[in-house]
Amino acid sequence: MNEFELIERFFTHIHHAAGVVLGVGDDGAVLDVPVGEQLVVVMDTQVAGRHFPLDTSPFDIGWRALATNLSDLAAMGATPRWFTLALTLPEADEAWLSGFAEGLSVLAAQAGVSLVGGDTTRGPLTITIQAEGTVPAGQALRRSGARPGDGIYVSGYPGDAAAGLALHQGRLARATGSDSLLERFFRPEPRLALGLALRGKASACIDVSDGLLQDLGHILAASGVGAVLDLEALPVSAALAAITGEDARSWLLSGGDDYELCFTAPDAVVLPDTGLPLTRIGTVQASAGLYDSAGNTLEVAGYQHFGGAG
Ligand code: ADP
Ligand code: MG
Repeated sequence: MNEFELIERFFTHIHHAAGVVLGVGDDGAVLDVPVGEQLVVVMDTQVAGRHFPLDTSPFDIGWRALATNLSDLAAMGATPRWFTLALTLPEADEAWLSGFAEGLSVLAAQAGVSLVGGDTTRGPLTITIQAEGTVPAGQALRRSGARPGDGIYVSGYPGDAAAGLALHQGRLARATGSDSLLERFFRPEPRLALGLALRGKASACIDVSDGLLQDLGHILAASGVGAVLDLEALPVSAALAAITGEDARSWLLSGGDDYELCFTAPDAVVLPDTGLPLTRIGTVQASAGLYDSAGNTLEVAGYQHFGGAG
């Protein structure tokens, strides 16, 4: 199978969005951006052994590579539309490619996006996806709009994915509900419906990829504000509590890979009901810094690619 057969066989049929004038097969894709909308462009790279364990199934590798990008679009409040795929592979293994393309296809169908181009090269397994979404002009969610008095919210149960990875790697012992934690790491669900529903409601938004405190810290820095967090209010899933007990909170505050949304909103806003639990975990304040309700400083720990722990 040469490169062109490989592309034809696995990457020309993922097509669920309108506006594709020219997709895979030419030197570039030609896309129609709906009139009155702005393009939102995101990119995310997954390196084997760094962003996912080497024994991750090809289906999950495909799913996660697209999911992390869709999560960025969700955080921007964008409607996902198209993506391109830069795939670096050690060898053209048909079973692997078929599983990988299936993982991409299933999530692409769910999200309604089309694969419109890419690049295929030989080398250590690395997947880069660039995705494009659209928003009505001026309505993209940003990190910079949090204001003193706004509530701070998080969707779902942060910490579950990091615990799932630890389970997979044998660093935590299994307990009731542990399968759901593994699922949270290997098949994250980009919160697209929530992102769309937060347009015009959230004052700031980010997706939680590197740890709740660290990612909230990005909102606070971009907005020039601080916050008080109510540690008692943090949502701990039953599955996380079952394996970590008292330690649940540190997983929740600093674990990565959840792809939940963390956002701020004024009290007057009626939060959207998308079926996802939304928990108010604190309040934005004018003075800088991140504190618990007793006034203690919260240390921000999270994943850093070039940090000591990264
Ligand atoms: P070029 O030499 O002009 O860069 P390529 O030979 O690399 O083009 O790719 C041929 C076509 O296949 C292009 O339309 C490109 O976008 C597409 N393509 C290449 N690799 C992939 C991939 N992994 N997934 C989807 N489309 C791809
Ligand atoms: Mg070319």
